[in-house]
Amino acid sequence: MLNTPPLSNLQTRDIESVLHPYTALHKLKSTGTLVIESGKGVYVYDTQGRGYIEGMSGLWCAGLGFGDEELIDAATEQLRSLPYYHLFGAKGTESAIELAEKLKEIAPVPISKVFFTSSGSEANDTQVKLAWYMNNAMGRPNKKKIISRIKAYHGVTIMAASLTGLPYNHIGWDLPVDRVLHTDCPHYYRFGKDGESEAEFVQRLVKSLRDLIEREGPNTIAAMIAEPVMGAGGVIVPPMTYYAAIQEVLDEHNIILIDDEVINGFGRTGNWWGCQSLGMTPKTISAAKQLTAAYSPLGAVMVPEDIYQAYVDHSAAIGTFGHGFTYGGHPLGCALGVKAIEIYQRRDIVGHVRMLSPVFEARMKALNDHPLVGETRYCGLVGGVELVADKKTRRSFDPKQAVGPQLAKILEGHGAILRAVGDTIAFCPPMVITEAELNELFDRFEKALADTEAWVS
Ligand code: PLP
Repeated sequence: MLNTPPLSNLQTRDIESVLHPYTALHKLKSTGTLVIESGKGVYVYDTQGRGYIEGMSGLWCAGLGFGDEELIDAATEQLRSLPYYHLFGAKGTESAIELAEKLKEIAPVPISKVFFTSSGSEANDTQVKLAWYMNNAMGRPNKKKIISRIKAYHGVTIMAASLTGLPYNHIGWDLPVDRVLHTDCPHYYRFGKDGESEAEFVQRLVKSLRDLIEREGPNTIAAMIAEPVMGAGGVIVPPMTYYAAIQEVLDEHNIILIDDEVINGFGRTGNWWGCQSLGMTPKTISAAKQLTAAYSPLGAVMVPEDIYQAYVDHSAAIGTFGHGFTYGGHPLGCALGVKAIEIYQRRDIVGHVRMLSPVFEARMKALNDHPLVGETRYCGLVGGVELVADKKTRRSFDPKQAVGPQLAKILEGHGAILRAVGDTIAFCPPMVITEAELNELFDRFEKALADTEAWVS
């Protein structure tokens, strides 16, 4: 099982020339790469023609699966009529206008304007710049720090990686930068104390947030950023009372809440937006990934009217709103965004996720009896299985053993792709998956889990 076959020509060329993101570079020559050639429905196919259920929608993004003809047609049509234009200097395109209107229509809170980026990282970077810009416009030049959370994931640009609360995004990268504060991670299983109830855990986190704000000075803090369900930190679903409780503290101190919906948005959690599933009421929103069902890069920042007015005032003082990306609001991305949202609505993707989530939950719960499984976590069609060395004490495996990545590798041999985030195996299948395909994904995962158990013992 652990003997990897000799590398193919394409794999060798891959390793020789491509710098692979989030990859154990020192092991690459022995592990090789999995070169994917095509995709259809929930399956992707490698260069040998082997099919894999893509149980992660790629990187939590291909929510409508692969090879969707409607999206392909929309892309082709847009490329024929206008392959590129921009929104700088008061220019506009019909696809950007339509997508902004659609996003305002489906937004979970009142939104006045949409700023387009090319990615989730750029969206969150922009959120921070906008919070600074807003506070300068409002005569609060010292209100600039941003609170994030341990285990958060908000991207990899210098500021987005600083907001991210994962060691491998900081160590060796001279990050986080100043002005970023990390508060507790709302993961009861990992960070709840012995004998502490979930309600007491939430109260402790609220107190810790309040202490942090008071220590730093409320007048120095602009915003807090949060993913409703935390994705790349290990699919962490906070207690249901958590957001309402921390928002009280933020509101008291006039600290805005930025909602990072980059994974959660567009039906993933069983509602249009993760904030609706988790009881969060944000001020501004970041979106990307399923915004275009991943058929093109695109990100968006959504802001309400009162914040927009601050930009207008500041632009009047300076002469322009000095921010924008060459490909932010690219017509291809916007046309795909419009089409993806139309498909989500017409095919009632939220309804489909809700219909499948009891199956997802039942298969997750059944895994709890396995000796390697410490905890399973799920919301809608996103979930995580945390592997542990000792179920009773919740002791984790030594990270050097790389048990999670090993399971993911074994799973490829069983014809499915999931992502190991540490020793948590993340599930985020295309939202169009059928019940039979979902069961097949779990069947294949169970085989890989059994093989991993044999490997670790
Ligand atoms: N925010 C969240 C919650 C994410 O999961 C990600 C990527 O996984 C990002 C932001 C960054 O998005 P991108 O990789 O498009 O820059």
